[in-house]
Amino acid sequence: MVQLPWANWNGAAMPLTDITVSVLDRGFLFGDGIYEVLRIYGGRPFLLREHFQRLRRSLKEIRIEADVERIEQRMHDTLRESGVQSGLVYIQVTRGAASRTHRFPDPPVAPNELIYVDAIELDPYEPFRNGGAKLLTVDDVRWGRCDIKSVNLLANCLAAQAAFEAGCLEALLVDRDGTITEGSHTSIFGVHNGRIMVTPMGPHILPGITRGLMVKLADRAGVEIVEGRLQRSALADLDEMFLTGTTAEVLPVTEVDGRAIADGRPGPVTQRLVAAYAAYLRDWLAE
Ligand code: PLP
Repeated sequence: MVQLPWANWNGAAMPLTDITVSVLDRGFLFGDGIYEVLRIYGGRPFLLREHFQRLRRSLKEIRIEADVERIEQRMHDTLRESGVQSGLVYIQVTRGAASRTHRFPDPPVAPNELIYVDAIELDPYEPFRNGGAKLLTVDDVRWGRCDIKSVNLLANCLAAQAAFEAGCLEALLVDRDGTITEGSHTSIFGVHNGRIMVTPMGPHILPGITRGLMVKLADRAGVEIVEGRLQRSALADLDEMFLTGTTAEVLPVTEVDGRAIADGRPGPVTQRLVAAYAAYLRDWLAE
């Protein structure tokens, strides 16, 4: 049995806590890197192709050249060595370590590649699965390329902390014009008149992998899903609200800023999608 979290650092397998990183790593100095998180069920990475597509895209958008096939192979090796059945994989690639200048190192240096696998023994979202989550609205002060899964998460961290201090599970990020974009680490959906509304893709949100699956599952379940911009001022009109994410899965939202969404209980459309997610996962596990 290896010590968890079990990691791979630039090709070398070791416990995560044994890794040491140069202070000149550009991820450390500038947040010059990207990451990806995958959920492990039954010892296998869920939605693997979709996560690696996004990883490739993030790398391309910030112009880091890394061998993604090699990262994927190392991820499989790390997962196998870890023996983890239920857990997560974290992957991070930074532009590497070089003397500190804002422009890219010239000549280029090798990216620093981190992979680690950890077990999830207790689902932190479990207490909210039946009763739903409370959210707090927070100004969305992030940069203009939130579609890149960058390790620059300061605004997300500040928002999540504000939510935590208000006794809420997640922050609901709101643009200057009152449009809800997404959560600090989740995608957001509203339900009105039996129809699901989800923020359109674009530079202001992360293209959530679970969001993508939800669009597919809603379609299959015969629930109409449309792209539209949810306004903070329209929250009172919603019949239901839910959020999605790799670790949150599909979670009902029952309160925002101390005000109940509809009757303050998880609604039927959300429950259908929770069941659709569970069924999809069951089928995938049986493959
Ligand atoms: N939005 C943001 C800002 C996130 O950080 C995340 C996940 O970390 C999500 C949405 C949900 O994305 P996914 O379903 O790929 O986990």
